[in-house]
Amino acid sequence: MLEVFPKEKRIIAEGVNIRKKHVRPKKTGEKGQIVQIPGPIDISNVKFICSKCGKAIKVGYKIVQKKKFRICKKCGQEI
Ligand SMILES: [Zn+2]
Repeated sequence: MLEVFPKEKRIIAEGVNIRKKHVRPKKTGEKGQIVQIPGPIDISNVKFICSKCGKAIKVGYKIVQKKKFRICKKCGQEI
């Protein structure tokens, strides 16, 4: 995972939702390039792997001392 935006409930993950962007050459004589930029995806579309269960699981939340933690819905392991 590259970046998490908890407020927007979005994350940017490597290799997911890749967008291609055309970059114009900065100097004359240079070639334009197509760069690949990972776009944000909704956090609910993300599959989390529980280290205990060892597979993709559903994510639950628990709040401890006003902090929000992601947990595995199956075994309660923090993710
Ligand atoms: Zn689990």
